[in-house]
Amino acid sequence: MLDFNLTEEQRDLQKKAREFAVREILPLAWYFDEQDQTPLRILKRAWEAGFTNSDIPKQYGGKGLGLLESAILTEEFAAACPGLATSIFDNSLGMEPLVLSDNEPLKEKYLPRLIEEFKLICFATSEPTTGSDVSGIRCLAEPDGEDFILNGTKYWITNGGLADYMTIFASTDPKSQHKGIGAFLVERNWEGVTVGRPIPKMGQRCSNTVGINFKNVRVPKENVIAPPGEGFILAMKTFSRTRPIIGAFATGAARSAMEYAIDYAKKRRTFGAAISGYQGIQFKLAEMYQKVETSRLLTWKGAWEADQGMDPTVTASVAKFYASEAALEVVNDALQIFAGYGYTKMFPIEKLLRDVRLLGIYEGTSEIQRMIVAGHLLNGYQAAMPALEDLPLHREKDPEDLDEGTGVWRCRMCGYVHYGDEPPEECPYCFFPKSTFKKMGA
Ligand SMILES: Cc1cc2nc3c(=O)[nH]c(=O)nc-3n(C[C@H](O)[C@H](O)[C@H](O)COP(=O)(O)OP(=O)(O)OC[C@H]3O[C@@H](n4cnc5c(N)ncnc54)[C@H](O)[C@@H]3O)c2cc1C
Repeated sequence: MLDFNLTEEQRDLQKKAREFAVREILPLAWYFDEQDQTPLRILKRAWEAGFTNSDIPKQYGGKGLGLLESAILTEEFAAACPGLATSIFDNSLGMEPLVLSDNEPLKEKYLPRLIEEFKLICFATSEPTTGSDVSGIRCLAEPDGEDFILNGTKYWITNGGLADYMTIFASTDPKSQHKGIGAFLVERNWEGVTVGRPIPKMGQRCSNTVGINFKNVRVPKENVIAPPGEGFILAMKTFSRTRPIIGAFATGAARSAMEYAIDYAKKRRTFGAAISGYQGIQFKLAEMYQKVETSRLLTWKGAWEADQGMDPTVTASVAKFYASEAALEVVNDALQIFAGYGYTKMFPIEKLLRDVRLLGIYEGTSEIQRMIVAGHLLNGYQAAMPALEDLPLHREKDPEDLDEGTGVWRCRMCGYVHYGDEPPEECPYCFFPKSTFKKMGA
């Protein structure tokens, strides 16, 4: 059964998130963007309102909500400020490897803390020298008895300067690439952990991004989220669950830009009429709506697949790169409708444009998403149509007129179809030999 309706609970959640976004996030977004700071109090209020960590399973004291609910919440927050939405959702990214881990005592220790106290947890695969290529992690995790000693630097870490806990991916042997990678839960106040200065960014400036350095940081064996050799696959599984949410950031930001553009177009007049009356503007608005709706459908499909226990990897990638690129187009078109005013800091569009530019970069660039989808198409995708050499592409004879038993041969090189008991000695079109012909239906 296909049903696009939200449940009453989901509609209620959407309403509450929308009210929170408009009341708490929107009034602060531009000020903190200008200051290049993350308003911690907003993250705390989001936590108090129960919007953070919504997907911690009930057995660890969480609400046990699905990814669809995360997508609903995130769209609303991103509509107000994509940067703050990133920082609010970052706890889900940081804790996801723990949720997926087999280390029960570790889950029982840390997951309830995220519910009971206002604690932030960040996620770190990226380093100064590697982002897309997660298998290229250099941060070292040297075994010391049953513990591990971390040395190295993580870079681009969202909420890294604010987080109490860190999910760190590191390798026992960087040369062995993905085979050496494990995941470790590190506490911010452990000896040897140093947080760098906030990285000055183009957009999403309300979201803290830093480098984190580890000097001989001892990780007790109890804090191993995934042992070496299992960290890479855990990171990939995490991304499959969090990438649809980048689609939700994109949907929310694009929806805002569209709404602001509709409002402006109705009010701005040129040549004696509102610009909303011009077809050139109307077509832009229609395409914005088309992209917002498509982005949401793809995002929700990825989230739904995850919630059904299916592997959401491919849909997650499609949703991520479609919605990220669509959002950039929508916000750019909105800026065109605002024209001169759109290019100023007095209106909301320039910030949205800077903010959405990031969506095609973090959690795997758009190129990486295309690689994942192409890999699926070329290796796993099940075609419904017959293979080319089996295609019943009759041009010279109506297949219904063929006598029973008539041989139909297709040249695998040029596609010529020959009728007879035997294939021709050579193809009359491409001159390839008899052996090139395949009997159709055989
Ligand atoms: C604001 C911000 C927040 C972030 N937050 C986090 C975080 O919380 N945790 C974390 O771990 N990381 C985080 N990141 C890092 C982010 O995930 C990486 O920036 C991203 O994965 C890309 O890596 P890179 O920047 O090293 O680019 P590179 O991997 O160096 O890629 C450079 C370019 O080459 C392209 N490319 C690479 N390989 C291929 C290929 N095989 N085929 C075709 N093209 C290719 C890429 O698409 C890109 O265009 C964040 C980044 C930013 C900017």
